[in-house]
Order: sequence, then structure tokens, then C-alpha cells
Amino acid sequence: MPQNQRTRVVAAGRPHEPNSPVNPPVDFTSTYMYRPSVAYPQVYAREGIPSFEPLEQLLAELEAGAHGLLFSSGQAAISAVISQLPLGGHLIIPKHAYMGYYTLAAQLAAKGHFSLHRVDITETEQVLSTVREAAQLAAAQNTQALLWIESPTNPMLEVADVPALIAGARQLGVRTAVDNTFATPLRQNPLKHGADVVIHSVTKFISGHSDVIMGAAVTADPALHTALHAHRNLHGTIPGPMEVFLALRGVRTLAVRLDAAERNAEILARRLDELSKDDAVPLTRVTYPGLDSHPQHERAKAQFGGEDGGFGAIITIDTGSLEAADAVLESLQVWTPATSLGGVESLAERRRRHPGEPETVPEGLIRLSVGIEAAEDLYQDLAQALRAAA
Ligand SMILES: *Cc1c(COP(=O)(O)O)cnc(C)c1O
Repeated sequence: MPQNQRTRVVAAGRPHEPNSPVNPPVDFTSTYMYRPSVAYPQVYAREGIPSFEPLEQLLAELEAGAHGLLFSSGQAAISAVISQLPLGGHLIIPKHAYMGYYTLAAQLAAKGHFSLHRVDITETEQVLSTVREAAQLAAAQNTQALLWIESPTNPMLEVADVPALIAGARQLGVRTAVDNTFATPLRQNPLKHGADVVIHSVTKFISGHSDVIMGAAVTADPALHTALHAHRNLHGTIPGPMEVFLALRGVRTLAVRLDAAERNAEILARRLDELSKDDAVPLTRVTYPGLDSHPQHERAKAQFGGEDGGFGAIITIDTGSLEAADAVLESLQVWTPATSLGGVESLAERRRRHPGEPETVPEGLIRLSVGIEAAEDLYQDLAQALRAAA
């Protein structure tokens, strides 16, 4: 078995016998023929097909879990995980988190599925005291609590003390789920710290080319895996075979894509930080976990160790106003104004254009998903667009 994450992304989930194809075949079928006299492991594709297994196995290996499960989207994986909370349970969530997650949790809470407890995920002691209160309520009400961690958070790039939160919640008998989309399995492995489940939007860095919507949940707990699999089957949230093909093809280059994008992000964050000192440019703040000025820089340095280190490929810039941000987006030539992130191409988006984004996200904040183009072109394009917006 390979010891190295860089090898795993390339080698895991490949057929390895003489005469086998180097890439696993993909079944484009909804159903499988059977004879009553022959044992039949495959029945109907909504239950999952052998073509899912190479990528599920690869993600399980990367996240140090025993079981990977693909879903039709990151949201579907999130929905499956939070649906495991019994009715009347307690969900502790970061006050900044992926908007779709946040909106879904708020809707389910409004319908009475569970109670929501919002926390500042960077404040470890406060989070754990909320977890303690939720655990006490849950015990008294004969239900359960779940701590949801996202780190770095989307789009505020807050960095949680992931190992301490997981360990603290465990001591209180509370399960933890971690959205590991931004860090990727190459920079952070929450299951190694005892998290119960990790979810990914495979749509983002893992598939890496902005051509797939897919999600995944990885766990070391066989009972949780079985429950999530049953949820996927009954809610019908399986990915399509073409998406599985594209995502497996995409993940093979995750290590080199991430290296290149992070290198660019480091350069851009520093140069934009320099540029923000120019009063003629509408740029009030640059946020990147790799900058000394990031409030959790030291924590990020300690946590995103991995084999290669690095602080991710997402930066945010605050232009100070909705108007300035929109003017920047109008002028960009190399960057594509679009939502989503984690692809080879650089994308920029004003997050507050979504009504669901919390008001604590500044109106003028642009999230930059740094791709693998030349850093100089990316910088010059942003600099000209910022100057044009002045
Ligand atoms: C995009 C995203 C999701 C949702 O994933 P989809 O594949 O779009 O459903 C969840 N969490 C984070 C952090 C994301 O960026």
C-alpha cells in the first residue's frame, strides 16, 4: 500500500491484474441481468454500481477512513449526514459556513427537525461550551447532538482548531462531521483526529475542472456508512456514471493542481496585500490563511502540515463596497467571474450577490478561487481591474 498521499491520488482504485485496463471501466446501465441460480451482487444502479468503487476507495484511503460513499452533490452528502440526527436533536454549526449547508440547516430547524446552535468556529473554548450545553439538552431530551465543523470556512476563511474541537466534542459524547472541501484530503484529514465523518464537495478541488457536480462522505464507522448508504439509496442521490468517470480522471492530478494553485495563491496574497497599501485602489483587506496578518495564521501553519504544507487556493479581497466589487468583476479578463471554486481556471465572485449569504460577509468581498495559470497574469488582471474600479 502506498504511504504517500501523492501516490495514493494516482494509484488508488486502479485495476492491478494482467490484462485489466489501467483505468477502471464505467458501467452505463441502470440495471443488471440476473439468473435466479446465480448469486447477484448488483441489482439496480440506484443502490450503487461497481464503477463507483474505485473513487470511493480512493477517497477513503486519502481521508484515512474505511468507507467512501459518492453522492450526486456535496449538498446531497451534507443532507445525508445531518439527516442522521434523530428528530429533536441539536446541531452546532459555524456562523459562517457554505451557504447551501447553512440554508438547509436553517430550513430543517424551522421545520422542527432539530435545534440550531450557531458558534464562532475559531473560538474553541466557546464552541466547546456550546457543545456541552447542547449535549446536556440532548441527554435530557433523549436525543443527540452533532458538531458541524467547516475549516477554512466558506467564504470567510476562518480556521478552526480542528483536532481540539473533535477531541473536546468526543469527550462530551458528541459526534463531529467536518466539511473538508477547502482544505482537501491532501492538507487535512479530520478522521485521523477522531471525526465521525468527513464530507466533500467533489465538485471543487477533487474533480478540479469545473465540469462535475458530485459529493462524498467518508467514515471509519461501518454502522454510519451503512446508514448513509441506505439514505443515498432511498433518497436517490447517486452520481451519474459519466460524472464518476470525470471525477476519477480529475482527482489523479489533485496533488500537482493543488501545489500549483497554492503557489499562485501565496504569490497573489502577498502582492495584493502590498497593493492594498495604495490608497488609490479600492482594496481594504486581503484574507489568506498563509498571510501573517490572518488571525489564525499560526493555527493554519500547524494544521495544514500534510506532506507539502500550503494554505489552500482560496483568497478573499474586500473592495469596501458592492459597487467597487461589481466594477472589478466587470473588468476582469483572465479571471472568470463565476461561482464555485477548486478548478484549474481562476474564478472570482462577490459572495453577497447570493441572498442566502449572512450579512456578516462584507458586501464588497470577492472570493478568489486561484487556478493554475501564470501568477503574473492573474495578478496583473486583478490589479488593472482594481485600478479601473477606483
Ligand atoms: C460547494 C460547496 C459545498 C456544496 O457542494 P455541491 O457539490 O455544490 O453540492 C459544500 N461545502 C463547501 C465548503 C462548498 O464549497
